[in-house]
Amino acid sequence: MDWGAEDAIAIAGTGFSGVAVGLQLMRALPAGGTLCVLGREPQPGRGVAYGTACDSHLLNVPAGRLGWDPQDEGGFARWLVAAGREVQPADFVPRCWMADYLQAQWDQGLAAARARGVRVQTGLSGLRSLRRLHHGWHLETDDGRTGQAAQVLLATGHLPPQAPSLGLGGDWQAPGFWPDPWQRPADWAPAPDAEVLLVGSGLTAVDLIIELRDRGHRGRIHLVSRRGQMPQPHRVAEARPRPGLQPVARLGADLHPRAALAEVRAWVREAEAEGLDWRDVMASLRAGTPRLWQRLSLRDRQQFLRHLQPWWDTHRHRMAPALWQRLQDDRAAGGLLSWTGRLAGVQPAEDGTGWRVTVQPRGGGVAQTLQVQAVVNCTGPSGRLRDARDPLLAELRERGLLSADALGLGLLVDAEHRPLDCCGVPVEDLYYVGPMLKAQHWEAIAIPELRVHAQQAASSLLARRAALLDEAWAAAA
Ligand SMILES: Cc1cc2nc3c(=O)[nH]c(=O)nc-3n(C[C@H](O)[C@H](O)[C@H](O)COP(=O)(O)OP(=O)(O)OC[C@H]3O[C@@H](n4cnc5c(N)ncnc54)[C@H](O)[C@@H]3O)c2cc1C
Repeated sequence: MDWGAEDAIAIAGTGFSGVAVGLQLMRALPAGGTLCVLGREPQPGRGVAYGTACDSHLLNVPAGRLGWDPQDEGGFARWLVAAGREVQPADFVPRCWMADYLQAQWDQGLAAARARGVRVQTGLSGLRSLRRLHHGWHLETDDGRTGQAAQVLLATGHLPPQAPSLGLGGDWQAPGFWPDPWQRPADWAPAPDAEVLLVGSGLTAVDLIIELRDRGHRGRIHLVSRRGQMPQPHRVAEARPRPGLQPVARLGADLHPRAALAEVRAWVREAEAEGLDWRDVMASLRAGTPRLWQRLSLRDRQQFLRHLQPWWDTHRHRMAPALWQRLQDDRAAGGLLSWTGRLAGVQPAEDGTGWRVTVQPRGGGVAQTLQVQAVVNCTGPSGRLRDARDPLLAELRERGLLSADALGLGLLVDAEHRPLDCCGVPVEDLYYVGPMLKAQHWEAIAIPELRVHAQQAASSLLARRAALLDEAWAAAA
């Protein structure tokens, strides 16, 4: 074995989730313990969300709420101020600042753990393969180095987006088409006056619009989506849960999406009568959302996804007010056009300058034809484990060690964050934290929730580690 140890804990993935679990473990592991960290990014904390180099990509949660540790919500804002950045807790700051903060916390945690005698092995590449040993796991990295660990945490993050159908003649492999907005070359840029089509109109599309305009793109940007909705803006004054409003208790045990919607609308009217708005109601729902989601039957979850998800997503996952204003200005100047419908066909343009894309409006009507030079898939990360092509996830899925939920939102875990295998049994000594927890919690993909899952998973790992060491002692005695 090139690395690891019989009693080691290995973490695969160094985005927010891997870093948050790693920091918890570095703080709590006793001297002599071993932590192995496997990552695909050169620095910790730079996953899809915070690895962006675009300064105008802003966090969509106020800085004062984004510490990595659930016991220190204000840690991020405090660190920013100490690092000389002028920030108020309510500000929406660049996402890459989160990566700087995570890196600094990581360096500090690593130094402190090593000083206490904890062995932390870093600089290992991604995890490609994981096989069960009689005790623990045999691991192989992307560069072919092998290691051993007693327990493994998967923090492998978002799955790449599913490329939607482009309709007749469409081909995501054609020149000018980008099926994954996070896998573009760094110097990717359509000609400054090119017309660009973004498929999807959520936060990924917002990222693309802002980035293109920052790079000086002058051409029109078209957005096409089934419902034509865009994320709502945050209010400047932060939304907070309304005192006394207890959604889980008030929505009752026999929850139904339609009845719940009527109730939520009534709460919004009450909030408005008090000078507040729907954002305060969404803030009140947030903590109880996982319990409400878990009460829904499969059929009701399907109904929710079919009819309510676009409203939920655009009202729950909001954008910073400054970005909203930029998009409003762009739209008013004619630079941004939204189309509601589906892509019905793609043909090379007759004049040889790009593509003619046909959009079939929602609800019928005359099809629209757009001529564009670039098309980017902005439908957002996927949760469909069955389509995951990453060798590690594909191997674990095919060997039955991971199981997807019925709705393609993510993977199933038990209360200790152990994935359920294909028979629904928790896999011993394997753990997961990350956005695929959405399958079971619905509200699970942002920092305020992930840091709690990270803490819980670290506690499970440490409790099991203690039990394994006790067993080893007993066997040796
Ligand atoms: C564009 C975008 C913007 C967002 N903005 C916000 C925001 O403003 N506020 C907020 O609270 N949340 C935001 N989120 C939500 C986001 O899900 C979380 O905040 C968080 O970044 C998720 O972290 P993660 O570590 O689970 O996943 P990721 O950030 O995806 O990181 C996973 C890491 O694992 C690595 N990896 C994958 N496979 C392997 C392997 N086999 N071996 C080793 N490493 C592997 C990847 O390379 C990556 O570095 C955003 C999400 C996206 C996609």
